[in-house]
Amino acid sequence: MEESLYQSPYGIEGIVTARTITRGLALHGMSTLYKLTGRMDALERNRVQFIYLHHLFPEEEESFRNLIRALIRNHRLVSFSEAVDRVKTGNIDKPYACFSFDDGLQQNLPAGKILAEFGVSGCFFICPSFVGETDRRKLKEICENRFAMPAMDLLSWKEVEEMVKDGHEIGSHTMNHPVLARISKAQMQNEIAESREVLTRRLGQVKHFAWPEGRFFHFTPAAAEAVYNAGYDSCVSAERGCHISQPSMPNFCIRRDYISARWPLGHSFYFLAKNSLTAVEGNHGWPQDWIETLAQSTAH
Ligand SMILES: [Zn+2]
Repeated sequence: MEESLYQSPYGIEGIVTARTITRGLALHGMSTLYKLTGRMDALERNRVQFIYLHHLFPEEEESFRNLIRALIRNHRLVSFSEAVDRVKTGNIDKPYACFSFDDGLQQNLPAGKILAEFGVSGCFFICPSFVGETDRRKLKEICENRFAMPAMDLLSWKEVEEMVKDGHEIGSHTMNHPVLARISKAQMQNEIAESREVLTRRLGQVKHFAWPEGRFFHFTPAAAEAVYNAGYDSCVSAERGCHISQPSMPNFCIRRDYISARWPLGHSFYFLAKNSLTAVEGNHGWPQDWIETLAQSTAH
């Protein structure tokens, strides 16, 4: 996990490392440079920007509202499905942004309420195996070993259903949050397909899939193939980037930018402006050396 500054409800206080401080200073420098050189104007460019978070601690709620208020100034906030559809069809006539959260922490519930205050729908990627877990020992194992964060409460099915009623979408984040590149092909396919079946049974439908850890080295072309074969509409990464036009292949990769509500707004907007400046037409989102395999998988 990238973020190392946090406070858990179970008493592990904010950890400030040398890396956090250095990173903060570097981001401050870059965002100032972007502002001074007019590069923040890139936020006005027509594109679809997917933003994601993991946690939203109570002390971060007001800054999350400020982030939404700031984004609304030059973006239209849309649901995850609308954002995916706009990429798919290339119907990108404005700057669009959408929010998603990974891992199914119970604090996703207040995050959903805040998004609803602004009339915005978010997408919450959850692992059905962990929903409703209340055993402290198991929560510690799940959070520490799989999410690399201190033990925290996770959403219950009742809360997940409440979020759906509030207009949010639920996506699959696999059954058990494994690194898909490190398990057998059969296990990988099962994690992808079974989570879709369970979520569809409980909630009616599930359209989107975000793989655990989210970087390309945690995933494989075969896993991407399995996601689209299982019937998902999108395959979602945590690789930074945005989308400015229709991708060159139907089984494309959604790029998302990780943002913490705790960061100063300038840091978050620096990443978004940088994506906008570096985005290229027709980008399918995948590493170039995966394309041959993925192009073959759509051919049959
Ligand atoms: Zn995750």
